[in-house]
Amino acid sequence: MIHCEFCKIVRGNSSAEILYDNLHAIAILDINPIHYGHILVIPKTHCATFLEVPEEELSDLICATKIVSRAMVDSLNPPGFNIFSNNGRAAGQSVFHFHFHVTPRYDDDNIQFVLKLKKYGEGEMTNYGERIRRHINTNLDCSIL
Ligand code: AMP
Ligand code: ZN
Repeated sequence: MIHCEFCKIVRGNSSAEILYDNLHAIAILDINPIHYGHILVIPKTHCATFLEVPEEELSDLICATKIVSRAMVDSLNPPGFNIFSNNGRAAGQSVFHFHFHVTPRYDDDNIQFVLKLKKYGEGEMTNYGERIRRHINTNLDCSIL
């Protein structure tokens, strides 16, 4: 993907504050951090969302996320941290090359995900459970991955 900002970073064609990399993933500092030390963990293969990350690359991606989370916590000592990802424009994704955000959190830092939580009506939870389970059970060979 010639015009993808994160592919350019992966290929070394665009600068970044690189923290760590392994065979399939790279971790950099976010240029517009929620808090200083906010990290992005990026698969080296171009993929728009989590669903397109190749199965055989997931392990390196998750291990890289844990390594940089541990390093961030031990070096910056935040009392908490978030790991999250935005998938699709509706979910707030702005760079369409998948990435995990790892960001320090502090008491009373006034960052809130403003959520209006719903309640399930009678039978609705079972209904949603069945719809999702049916897909899992018909794809147990991981062919959907
Ligand atoms: P998202 O909105 O979840 O897609 O997150 C994209 C993130 O990438 C934002 O937090 C941006 O600040 C960050 N970002 C965009 N371009 C760069 C770049 N060249 N280097 C580092 N971080 C970047
Ligand atoms: Zn890309």
